[in-house]
Amino acid sequence: MEMRKKIIRSFMFTFLISFLIGFTILFGIMYMVFLNTQQTRQFDQLRIIENMNEVEKKDVGKYLEKLDSRLTVIDEDGQVLYDNIVDTIDENHLERSEVKQALAQTQGSAVRKSDTTNIDYLYTAIYDETSHIIVRLATPFDGIAQSSFALLPSFIMAFLIALVTVWFISKRMASTIILPLQEISQKIWTTRIGKEKIRFEMYQYPELYEITEAIESMNEEISENISQLEKEKKIRQEFFSNASHELKTPLTSIIGYTELLKTNTITDKEQKQRCLDLIMKESQHMKQLVEDILTISKLESEEYKASLSHVSIPELMNAVLDRFQVSMETMGLIVDVQCDPLLVYADKRHIEGLFENLISNAVKYNVQGGKISIACYGVNQDMIFKIQDTGIGISKEDQERVFQRFYRADKQRSKVISGTGLGLAIVKHIVQYYDGSIKLESEEKKGTAITLSLPVLVKDH
Ligand code: ATP
Ligand code: MG
Repeated sequence: MEMRKKIIRSFMFTFLISFLIGFTILFGIMYMVFLNTQQTRQFDQLRIIENMNEVEKKDVGKYLEKLDSRLTVIDEDGQVLYDNIVDTIDENHLERSEVKQALAQTQGSAVRKSDTTNIDYLYTAIYDETSHIIVRLATPFDGIAQSSFALLPSFIMAFLIALVTVWFISKRMASTIILPLQEISQKIWTTRIGKEKIRFEMYQYPELYEITEAIESMNEEISENISQLEKEKKIRQEFFSNASHELKTPLTSIIGYTELLKTNTITDKEQKQRCLDLIMKESQHMKQLVEDILTISKLESEEYKASLSHVSIPELMNAVLDRFQVSMETMGLIVDVQCDPLLVYADKRHIEGLFENLISNAVKYNVQGGKISIACYGVNQDMIFKIQDTGIGISKEDQERVFQRFYRADKQRSKVISGTGLGLAIVKHIVQYYDGSIKLESEEKKGTAITLSLPVLVKDH
């Protein structure tokens, strides 16, 4: 059933039930009040009659007969001594509940149909302890039938007014709930979820507001996820095109040199050797490239587990520095290394990768006669590695991008200095793998400082 109809219907149903309960209680109370009033009156009358003599009682009896009321005098044994309506009654009255009560508590009352006249009576009886008789007065008692009849028009009126009022209120209530719900569902259907913003009005009820707020934030979350996915898709596409491009360059050279050798155009032995050296160099470059790509993709995969072991930092540092000895000397670089005797628990290749890539950059992007300062020390659980150079520096705009795969700053210079732009991406991935942090400070023409902090320290001996 339509929600609106359902709401109105349940309102009306509740109203009818409450109305019925209300009136039942009202009639119950009215009945009690009427009964009480009549009882009190009858007892008062009985108290007067009780003190009358036989003759007077009979006079009153006659008078009461005209009022359809019954006066009975009963002795202690239940024998009817006098009745104003029926002349002789043989039946014992001791079992009548009003008589029983009167004998026990001096007065008693009961409502029931009279066997003699067949109408409802209110029986009241008083026991006179001195004369040992029970005087009983019974008057017709219709409860509230008559008053109800009198009340009927106002009852119907009240009922109708309440009915109409409840109907109006329930309709209004239904509208204030249903209209916003309809608006909300319409908005949901007409909005391209995750693609557009969704804004609802402020509704009266906090529950509705909670719903709209939840939808709004869900929509925002979906849209964030979509843009994240799109960003990742773009990064992937760029990665594939960059990777194929980078791989193609050395391959083209290799193919070129191989063809040259195959056609036997080069006869000179030395030249042949140079050709083979170049093929070797390009192949090595390709191998390095593929290794770098693999390293990144491994670090990105969620299942990847590094093979951890204890690594002595000064040893590793010296081994890496040795590899750069020649290029450092060629550039006339002054290198200052301050390495504390740290022991870390990590994948050796990862730490080696960090040192190698960062030192390689500090050498490559330095100037003739420049300086490199390296510091390695421990702070709490962290190994801090700081490398500073007096090289060409990185512009503000490029500082954020140099960590992206294949990104190389300063296009002009990049053509001269070899590299693929994967070094810092690897560094970033390794640092992320260990939940470490990385900081880059750089100023163009002044130099660059990179500080890594990795929570891998075992001891600082
Ligand atoms: P690869 O390291 O893969 O051989 P690469 O050195 O070009 O190539 P990254 O190490 O990722 O790649 O560095 C990205 C870019 O950031 C570099 O091309 C360079 O422009 C810039 N860069 C990195 N380190 C420095 C530095 N110490 N000083 C100046 N520029 C730097
Ligand atoms: Mg590099």
